[in-house]
Amino acid sequence: MIKIDPNKVIKHLQSKWKAGCPYCQESDFGIENTLYHLHQAKDPTTVKAHDLNYIPLIVVGCNNCGNTTLINLGLTELEVFSAT
Ligand SMILES: [Zn+2]
Repeated sequence: MIKIDPNKVIKHLQSKWKAGCPYCQESDFGIENTLYHLHQAKDPTTVKAHDLNYIPLIVVGCNNCGNTTLINLGLTELEVFSAT
C-alpha cells in the first residue's frame, strides 16, 4: 500500500492555500495517509484494470463541515512510501 505523511500534506497545504475550507473557512483538516487513484474513463465495455491511466490523489477532508477535496499528488513535490 502506498502511503503519504499527513503532516507533510498539511505543511504543503499551509504553504499553498490562501485560506481554509472554501465552505466554512475552518482550517482543521483530516488527511488520509493512503493514496487513491482516479481512473481515466475509456470504453466502458472493455475496461480492464491493467489498461487504465490514473491520477494519484491525496484525500483532504474538512473536520468541521465534511467537505472533501482531492489533491493531485503529481502536481506536488510530496513524497510517498510503501507500507503494509
Ligand atoms: Zn469546511
